[in-house]
Amino acid sequence: AVAVKGVGKTFGATEVLKGIDLTVPAGATTCLIGPSGSGKSTLLRCIAFLEEATKGTITIKGDPLGFAEAANGQRTRLSPQNIRSVRSRIGMVFQQFNLWPHMTALGNVCEALVTVRKMKRKEAEERGMAQLSRVGLEHRATHYPSELSGGQQQRVAIARALALDPEILLFDEPTASLDPELTGEVLNVMRDLAGSGMTLLVVTHEIGFAATVGESIAFLDHGRLLLNGTPREVFGEPRHPRLAQFLETYL
Ligand code: ATP
Ligand code: MG
Repeated sequence: AVAVKGVGKTFGATEVLKGIDLTVPAGATTCLIGPSGSGKSTLLRCIAFLEEATKGTITIKGDPLGFAEAANGQRTRLSPQNIRSVRSRIGMVFQQFNLWPHMTALGNVCEALVTVRKMKRKEAEERGMAQLSRVGLEHRATHYPSELSGGQQQRVAIARALALDPEILLFDEPTASLDPELTGEVLNVMRDLAGSGMTLLVVTHEIGFAATVGESIAFLDHGRLLLNGTPREVFGEPRHPRLAQFLETYL
């Protein structure tokens, strides 16, 4: 599990995250929802250590990420090696697919295996093909991103993240830049991953997906975790007024 404790984040004078406590249980899917600007991406980026929390701690299976906190509350920054090794256990998929345009689908999936994980090209390609088939794209391995639909590009990005064998996969609005008819194929891949026992933390405005695939739902509002529970607890009646207001704008 990933445990977020008392995490705060300020940008200059703006307090974007105001003491977040969230446990993302292993083997389950947690969906993070909330209005625009509530801090969803910032929280995800703190967990991926693309952004440094200014307060609190984040651990993955008990191992501190980025910072350790002593009993007296003193936070110390961990070594770069330590940060790199803990970070490598976390995968992330972005709204913009961020594929390398000059590399094929397979090339994109293999790149970090060869350059970062120092795997032999042939071994990396075998592993890459296995991940492409997991997202239903083995027949597109030699295509370049410009030759793929947005949905296919996002599925390549998911295969690329999976190839590194992360312990948790973070998604930040993975379907938000897709045409509606391409959203389903990406959500289906994510649904399969959820069913396979991966640990997922998904920021999404797809409330139907959150309600049916999410085992827990976290609702963020103005930098605070307002609600956190099962879909039934969060979406059921009586509804928290802020959630009701949010749902009205997104359903
Ligand atoms: P959306 O649904 O629109 O993606 P979000 O919930 O992901 O919104 P964040 O992107 O986390 O929201 O942003 C939360 C707040 O933090 C916003 O007010 C935003 O302007 C601010 N913010 C985010 N990144 C930075 C930054 N690098 N510098 C200053 N302010 C930032
Ligand atoms: Mg965002």
